[in-house]
Amino acid sequence: MAHMVLAAVQTGDRRIELREFPRPAIGADDALLRVEACGLCGSDVEQFHGALVSLGLRYPTVPGHEPLGTIEEIGDVVARRWGVQPGDRVAVEPLIPCGACSACLSGRYTSCSGRPLTERLYSCIPTDHAPALWGGYAQYLYLHPNTLVHKVSNDVPAELAVMFNPLGAGVRWASHVPGTRLGDTVVIFGAGQRGVSCTIAAKAVGAGTVIVSDIAAARHKLELARVFGADATIVADEEPVVDRVRELTRDQLADVVIDVSAYATKPVVDAIDVVKTGGTVVLAGLKGPKEVPGFLNDKVVMKAITIKGVFGVDRPAYAQAIRIIESGRFPLERLHTHDFPLEQAARALETLAGEVPGEAAAHVTIRPWA
Ligand SMILES: [Zn+2]
Ligand SMILES: [Zn+2]
Repeated sequence: MAHMVLAAVQTGDRRIELREFPRPAIGADDALLRVEACGLCGSDVEQFHGALVSLGLRYPTVPGHEPLGTIEEIGDVVARRWGVQPGDRVAVEPLIPCGACSACLSGRYTSCSGRPLTERLYSCIPTDHAPALWGGYAQYLYLHPNTLVHKVSNDVPAELAVMFNPLGAGVRWASHVPGTRLGDTVVIFGAGQRGVSCTIAAKAVGAGTVIVSDIAAARHKLELARVFGADATIVADEEPVVDRVRELTRDQLADVVIDVSAYATKPVVDAIDVVKTGGTVVLAGLKGPKEVPGFLNDKVVMKAITIKGVFGVDRPAYAQAIRIIESGRFPLERLHTHDFPLEQAARALETLAGEVPGEAAAHVTIRPWA
């Protein structure tokens, strides 16, 4: 049994180094996960660049909030509560809810405010908070008593099983929140992991036409969206988006529009234009401290549009995402592009961020035992 655990530790903006920590002692109410793979998303890149410092994050931390692994050791109390045993393969939700604040008690645990960010989100808890191993970029992850885990079949390759995270977002944002129904027309702004995940979820619940839009630089992602069922794609900086949606829907416009694009504000304005009267717009892309030029209040009023902001992913969405992955119905291996060992964590992040020339990344994982 190893007594030291290897982890990639972020010590500053864009600085990651390997460190060793003692293997945590496990009591009746906590557990230890042997990390098989950890998925990376845009939030990992933001954390790497230092964008989360303004939200209270402080260094050093072990990043990684999308871990998948097997239960190495678990206390009796928590084993009963979670319904898992040593050797079970589980996906771990990023949030550690307090379970006692008003958000938690009213079923909106993704908005938990009972503890600061640096105590409630894997990857954001500093290593000086015992037992240090609070992120997925490590051989082992400490599992807090309030952790939420989901069993995952051993039959699914790790790089696909770990997609529970982006796909969970797709299920929540493209299905649960807007209530997408059979035959609906769905427009998705943004063709990254989350846009493709929204495409998969929309198709899985029976959407009719799915249209995905992104910029020319993301052309390879638009092609991926087609692989996963998008009926049409729009190159937003080369084509008139609203006219194209009118044409593709024969002026019927969209029942549901989802914006998962980061920073760009034009998709918000376009969403109001391409959604039909009485339709629903889901806003899931963060834009920073920017206003949205061209936003017309009266269009929202007169078209009786429902606008819903979404933040995070909840348990039912993760559970359905895992069932979709286990079904093997979608060629998820086409979405997966890169695996990196722990010592190349920074390279993994730069690759996902599109900063490595010649590497067109979509889904990237870190494999701590590779
Ligand atoms: Zn993520
Ligand atoms: Zn709470």
